[in-house]
Amino acid sequence: MQKVITLKDLCLVTKTAPMAADIHGGRAKCLQRLIRLDMPVPTTVALSFDAVRAIAGGQAVDTPQILRHFEEAPLLSVRPSSMDPDWGGPGAMLNIGMNDAKHAELSEALGAEAATRIYMRYIQSFAVEVARLDPEEFYLPDHPSADALRAMLNTYEAEMDAEFPQNVAEQLAEVLRSMARTWEGTTARLLRQAKGAPADAGLGLVVQGMALAVGEGVCGSGVIQFVDSATGAEQINGRFVPQALHSETLRDAKDALFLTRDPRGPSLQDQAPEAFATLIEFGALGRLRLREEMEIKFILRDGQLTILDAVRVQRSPQAAVRIAVDLAESGVIPRQEAVMRVQPAALSELLHRQIARDATRDVIVRGIPASPGAARGQLVFSANEAQASAARAEACVLVRRETTPEDIRGMHAAAAVVTLRGGITSHAAVIGRGIGLPCIVGAGDLDVDERHRTITAPDGRVFAAGDIVTVDGTTGQLLAGEPRMLEAALDDAFQTLLSWADDVRDIGIRANADTPADAKTAHNFKAQGIGLCRTEHMFFDGDRVDLMREMIFADTAQGRAAVLERLMPLQRSDFKELFQIMQGQPVCIRLFDMPLHEFLPAGKSGLRDLAELLDVPMAEVTARVEDLTEYNPMLGMRGVRLGLTVPEIYDMQARAIFQATVAVSDEGNVVVPEIMVPLVSAKREVELIESRIESVAAAVRTETGVDFDYKLGVMVETPRAAMRSQDIAEHATFLSFGTNDLTQMTYGLSRDDAGRFMSDYVKLRVYEEDPFHTLDLDGVGELLKLGAERGRAGRPDVTLSICGEHGGDTAAIAFCRAQGFDYVSCSPFRVPVARLSAAQLAV
Ligand code: PEP
Ligand code: MG
Repeated sequence: MQKVITLKDLCLVTKTAPMAADIHGGRAKCLQRLIRLDMPVPTTVALSFDAVRAIAGGQAVDTPQILRHFEEAPLLSVRPSSMDPDWGGPGAMLNIGMNDAKHAELSEALGAEAATRIYMRYIQSFAVEVARLDPEEFYLPDHPSADALRAMLNTYEAEMDAEFPQNVAEQLAEVLRSMARTWEGTTARLLRQAKGAPADAGLGLVVQGMALAVGEGVCGSGVIQFVDSATGAEQINGRFVPQALHSETLRDAKDALFLTRDPRGPSLQDQAPEAFATLIEFGALGRLRLREEMEIKFILRDGQLTILDAVRVQRSPQAAVRIAVDLAESGVIPRQEAVMRVQPAALSELLHRQIARDATRDVIVRGIPASPGAARGQLVFSANEAQASAARAEACVLVRRETTPEDIRGMHAAAAVVTLRGGITSHAAVIGRGIGLPCIVGAGDLDVDERHRTITAPDGRVFAAGDIVTVDGTTGQLLAGEPRMLEAALDDAFQTLLSWADDVRDIGIRANADTPADAKTAHNFKAQGIGLCRTEHMFFDGDRVDLMREMIFADTAQGRAAVLERLMPLQRSDFKELFQIMQGQPVCIRLFDMPLHEFLPAGKSGLRDLAELLDVPMAEVTARVEDLTEYNPMLGMRGVRLGLTVPEIYDMQARAIFQATVAVSDEGNVVVPEIMVPLVSAKREVELIESRIESVAAAVRTETGVDFDYKLGVMVETPRAAMRSQDIAEHATFLSFGTNDLTQMTYGLSRDDAGRFMSDYVKLRVYEEDPFHTLDLDGVGELLKLGAERGRAGRPDVTLSICGEHGGDTAAIAFCRAQGFDYVSCSPFRVPVARLSAAQLAV
C-alpha cells in the first residue's frame, strides 16, 4: 500500500516544529536553528525523507497544502536537504510559479528584459531538469526578448506535446517528483555512497518563498562567510550583486560589490552599513550557537535583510584544521570535539612542503592553485622528459598546455605540474591532488613554445628547459629559482590539533624508517620512535648495493670477513645517525632480511657488471648466481635463516649497533637499541641468535669500557611464530607482527604475484578487499590475537606491536587498540594520520 503523505511529512518550519536532521535533513534542521536565533528566514516548508520517498514511488503530493503557506511569495524555490550536506543531491530549482501572468506582472515591476530573463531561465531549468529535454535546445541568449521567449515556449510545446505548465501547483508537483527521482537514480546513489552515505540514505526537500531582490534602494543577493576557505584564517569573504534575483547566479555576475570597505570600489559595508553590521552579528551568532563557521546566503530589499540559508563553510583540509582549532581555542567547542571534526585522511594533504613566509618570491606567472604544497625542479615539457629526469633522480617541473591521461606517467615522475588551461576540477588538478603533487592550472598568461622548449613570462622573461623553477601549488604562483622552503607540518594549528589528539590517544605510533631522511620526517611528525628499520634497505642505493652483492657472493669465510669489515663502519654511522635524529626515542633495528633475489643481478649485462666488480670470470658469476637462485626466494634463505647459516653477518650488525650506541651515549643520551630478528618460526632460532648477540654485546662492553642495555625482540611474521609465541617470548622482550609476510603466509598468497588476480578476486568478492592493503581481521587478525595472548602467557610484560603496511590503517589501529597492543608502526608520512585516527578511536 502506498504511503499517505501526512501533515507531519510536510512541516512548516517554525521555532517549535518537531524537526530532526535524520527525518527532514540537515538543511531543514539548520533553517529551523536560524529561525530560533531570530534570523529573518522566509517561509519554509520541509518535506521529510519519507515524504520524498513516497513521491519518488509515485505518490501524489497535496501541493495546495504546501502552497497555502506561500500566498504572499511571488515565486518559490526547492532545495535538497540530505542528512549530511556532503552527500549532494539534486540541484536547487528556483523561480517556481513563473508563468505568463507572473511574467506580465514582473515586466511591470522590473522591466521586460529582466522579467523575460527570469522566465526563460526557469523554462530552461524546468525543461532540462524536470522534463529531461535536451539542454542544447534550451539556451539562454545574452539579451532575452519576447521573440526568444516565444520560441522557447514553442520548443517546449513541440517536444512535450503539451503547453508549458501555467499552474503553480502542477509545476511544484513536477519539480518535487523530479528531484525525488533524481535522488533514487544510480549515479546519485553511487556518488553519495562514495562519500560515506548509507545505502538507504534519505532526501528531504525544502520549499521556500523567494523574495525578489530587485527594486528601489539597496537590493540584491549575496553570500558571506567569515573565514577564508583556503586557510581557515579569520577573513570576510563572499559576494554581493545588486539587483540580482538569487544567490545561485552570483558566481557568474560581473557587477558584484566588495563586501567590506575597499579603495578599489563601492562596497556593501558602505552602501548598507546596517545590514552589513547585522550580517556580522549573525556570523558571530551562528558560530557560537551552531558551533560552526557558516556561509550565509542572504538578500537585501531596500536595505532589509532576509536570510535564505546557511551552510557549513566549504574548506580545504588546512582550513578544516584551523577552523576546528580556532573554535576550540575560543571555547565554542571542546578540544576533543575539534579532534573529532577533522577527517584523518584530509591531514595527508597538509603534509607537504611550503615556501617560507619570509622568502623572496620572483613570480613568473600566477595561475589557479590546484593542489597544495611547493616543489622545485628543472623545467621539462613532456611526460618522457619527466620520466627521464626521475630516472636520473633529478626533480623536475612538468609544464603542459593541458594534461591528458597520457601525461599521468609524467605527473607521477614530476615534482610539480603547471598547465596553461583548465580549472580546479581539470584532469591535472584532480590527479595532482590525488597524488599530493603541487599543481597550478589555468596559467594562461604563460607562453609556451614546445618546439624550442621555452616558456615566456608575461613580463617577457624567457626560461628554458633545465632552468630551475618552483611551483607554489598553495598560492598558484610559478616562481623563478629556489625560494626557501619550510618542511611540512610546521603549521601551528596542525601541531595544536595533533597535540590534542596525543592527549587522548592511548596507543603508541611509531614510524617505519630506514634512512636518516625517513627518520627526520618521522621525528618531525612526532613519531614515538622507529618501529621498523629495514637494514637491507640501507643498501639499495649507489655503491652500497655493490658492497652487498660482494658480501652475498663471497664464498669463503675470509672473503666475507673482508667485505663485512667494509660494511661495518657504514652501518655504524647509519645507526649513529638514526639514534641522534630520534633523540633518545626507541629505535627498533631489524637485522638483515633480504630475499637474495632482490640483490642478484638481472640479465647478461648485470652479470657482466658483477663479474667486473668482483674481478672474476663471467662463468664463475653465472654459476654462483645459479647456485644462489631459489625456487621460492620469499620462503627461502631469508631473515634469520641467513643469520644462522652465515652468523658473521648478524654479528657485524650487532657490533655496529652497539658501537653506535656507545658513541651516541657518550654524547649524553641514553640509547637502548631494540634489535629485531626477522622471519622466525622456531624458538631455537631466537635462542641461538640471542646468545651470539649477547656475546657481541659483552665484547663491545669490554672493548669500550662502556656499559649499555639493549632489547632483543622477534618479528612475528610466520603463522608458526604466532602459534609458538609463548615459548618464543621467553627470549624476546617484544613481539612485532609483520603483517605483510603474515598475510602472505596465512593465505598462501605471494606478495609479489597476487596483483595479477587480486582485482578479479575482489570483483568476485572472494576477498572483500586486498588483504595486503586492508588487514584481514577474520583470518590474519585471529593469528594476531592468538599470538598476543600466547606471547603474554610467555612474558606478561612483553611489548606488542604491528609494523606491516597495515600499521597506519584506521581499522588496523582499532584492532590493535582492542587487543591492548602497545604501538603501531607505519610509514613516516602516515604518522600524523595515524595519530589522529588513534585519538578519534579513543574519544
Ligand atoms: C612484514 O612482513 O610485515 C614486514 C614489515 O617486513 P617486510 O615487509 O620487510 O617483509
Ligand atoms: Mg616481513
